[in-house]
Amino acid sequence: MTALLEVRNLKTYFFTLRGSVRAVDGVSFTLEKGEALGIVGESGSGKSTLGFSLLRLVPPPGRIVEGSIILDGEDILKLPEERVRKEIRWKRISMIFQSALNALNPVKRIGDQIADAIMAHEDVDKKEALERAAELLKSVGIDPRRVNNYPHEFSGGMKQRAVIAMALALQPDVVIADEPTTALDVVVQAQILNLFKKLRKEKGLSIILITHDLSLVAEIADKVAIMYAGKIVELGPSEKIYTEPAHPYTKGLMASIPRIGGSKELAWIPGSPPDLRNPPPGCRFHPRCPFAMEICRREEPPYFDVGDGHISACWLHKEGISKS
Ligand code: SF4
Repeated sequence: MTALLEVRNLKTYFFTLRGSVRAVDGVSFTLEKGEALGIVGESGSGKSTLGFSLLRLVPPPGRIVEGSIILDGEDILKLPEERVRKEIRWKRISMIFQSALNALNPVKRIGDQIADAIMAHEDVDKKEALERAAELLKSVGIDPRRVNNYPHEFSGGMKQRAVIAMALALQPDVVIADEPTTALDVVVQAQILNLFKKLRKEKGLSIILITHDLSLVAEIADKVAIMYAGKIVELGPSEKIYTEPAHPYTKGLMASIPRIGGSKELAWIPGSPPDLRNPPPGCRFHPRCPFAMEICRREEPPYFDVGDGHISACWLHKEGISKS
C-alpha cells in the first residue's frame, strides 16, 4: 500500500549567529490514511519543528535544507509556495498548535472565526460558511447553537474543541496536533482524545500527535516515533514500544511514567539533551546512556530492525558487538 504521507530524510536547521541548530536531522516515517502516529520527545527534541516543517511553516531563521515530504505521491517541498498555500496547507494537512487556546480571537464570535477560515480558502458565502461552522462544532461535540458565542463563553475544553473544529474546517487528510491537551485537566484530556478517535473512525482522518507525554499517545496512536536530539531513535507499533521498548532512551522514558499501584521508584534520565548546534559525535544519546560503548562515541548507529515493523537506532542491537 502506498502511504498517504511519506517523510524521507527530512532536515530542518535554524541558522543563528552562534551556529546552525540541527533541530530536525534526517527524519523519515510514513503515515497511512486513518492512521495515528505519536511523536514523542522531550522539549527541544525537534518534534514541534518537525510539525511546522510538514506544513512548510518553519519560522525564520529556520529552513528545510534536505529531504522530501511526499503527500499522495507528490513532494510538497518541490511545490511553489502559492500551490502549498492554496492546495496543501490547512486543506490537506492542518495543525493544532501548542498554544491553541490562545489562538482564538477573544473579540470575535467562534462561528465567525471558523467561517473566516473557510471563506479564506473556498468560494462560499458567509451564510454557507456559518452553516458549516455550526456543523463542525457539532462534529466536535459542541451544541451548534453556540456558534454565536464568544471564546470567553466557552470552557477550556470547549475552546480546544473549537480549535480542533477550525483545524478540520477544510476537511484535511492529516491533522498534526502539537501538545493538544497540555493545558487541560485529565477529564477534558480524555474527552479530547476520544474526539480524535471518533474523527479517525468517522472521517478516516490521519493524525500526528506530537507530545512529551508517552502515556498520552498510548491512548490513541497505532505507532509511535521517539525523537531525541533531532532524530527518531525508535519507531514501531504502539504496543511494541510500550511492552518491549528497544532503545535505552525509550526505556528511560518508560521508567519515568508514574503507574498506579507501581511499587518501583520512578527513574529518570540523568543529564539533559545536547546543544543541537554542536551535538555529540556518534550516538547523540551517548553522554546520558548507561549502556554507552566505545563505538557509540564514534559512530552514529543505523536503524536495526527489531521485528514487526519496529526499528531502533542503537548499537546494542548489532550482533557480536562488544558491550564494553
Ligand atoms: S547506541 Fe550506544 S549510546 Fe546510543 S543508545 Fe545505544 S548503547 Fe546507548
